[in-house]
Amino acid sequence: MTIELRQLTKRFGTLTAVDAIDLNVGDGEVLCLLGPSGCGKTTTLRMIAGLELASEGDVLLGGTKVNNRTARERNVAMSFQFYALYPSLTVAENLAFPLHGEKLDKAEIARRVAKISETLQLGGILNRTPGQLAEGEKQRVAVGRSIIRDPSCFLFDEPLSRLDVQLREEMRGEIKLVLQDLSKPTVIVTHDQLEALTMADRIAVMRDGRIEQVDTPHNVFQRPANLFVAGFIGTPQMNLLPATLTGSNGTTADFAMTGGQTMTIEVDPRVSELSPGAKVTLGIRPRNLEISREPIEGGISTTIDIVEPMGAETLAHLNDGHHDLRLVTDWRVPLAEGDRVHTRFPPGATHIFTEDEQVLRTP
Ligand code: ATP
Repeated sequence: MTIELRQLTKRFGTLTAVDAIDLNVGDGEVLCLLGPSGCGKTTTLRMIAGLELASEGDVLLGGTKVNNRTARERNVAMSFQFYALYPSLTVAENLAFPLHGEKLDKAEIARRVAKISETLQLGGILNRTPGQLAEGEKQRVAVGRSIIRDPSCFLFDEPLSRLDVQLREEMRGEIKLVLQDLSKPTVIVTHDQLEALTMADRIAVMRDGRIEQVDTPHNVFQRPANLFVAGFIGTPQMNLLPATLTGSNGTTADFAMTGGQTMTIEVDPRVSELSPGAKVTLGIRPRNLEISREPIEGGISTTIDIVEPMGAETLAHLNDGHHDLRLVTDWRVPLAEGDRVHTRFPPGATHIFTEDEQVLRTP
């Protein structure tokens, strides 16, 4: 079973909520649609489910075009959150509830409940009511209830958004394991990047109705395709500094920064695609920034503005007079507000974005 979207578009009046997106989700694959509020995630999910008609383009399930099929005919499981259980029903009854409309005989219902309870390890609690369950158990039952109908695919909209932090952490890992076992395509909508990074096999990062990048969690983090993805993924946010290329010799490139300092970065020969004078944005993650008390050749000098201890690590804001640079270091590194420190963008960790916001090279 697969989900395929071809040039899928949704317009509400003059607003294009989803703009000609192409996407494939494979058998057993968990794909997260990730992006800021209003970028079109939910509308995309609703078009897959058949709850919203596409303005243009196609939805294919298992290779068959389903544009004209109702939600029921598409047999998808769509759920908005994982915890609405009926308090007066037992776990077994809660699990069986979605099957009542399906005209199955009692033996088949019992067989499905047994199978789900085995997958989710609910065997010991089938006769309890939700009030007698721990939070984690309630969640497993709720997951079970959304998958018991044996649908063609699973669609989840912000499934963990109402849970407290600890439960979210537990559920992320658990859901991933369950979904992988089920061998159906799954699409999860979330605006929470940690949720996407931990649960997804691949992430589609959306902005303004378009998909900016579809890739593994590792790659959207390590190899962002453009400035938007670079800035959107990662906490604290990647440092993004405007600069002008002043020259390169094939192995190093020199950049003029706002304010007059210059920076030299070891780069691969692709920087030679740019002419001196080209405007770029240099990107470096806060954990990759190197610092020194001594001036560094080709680096820039800064003053420590703010030091924020975060437990095992420290977040510091450095300022070169024009930019705020976020630095994350081990908590043992002594940093004091007002100190001068020198920074360097190490080779292999600097992303260069061209004026049209696309990555020039991935480190
Ligand atoms: P959120 O996380 O806030 O739900 P989202 O990425 O899921 O955001 P959508 O809900 O898909 O975004 O909405 C995309 C755009 O389409 C938004 O600008 C929204 O206001 C608009 N929109 C969604 N549904 C409708 C509708 N039924 N009529 C008019 N505009 C709509």
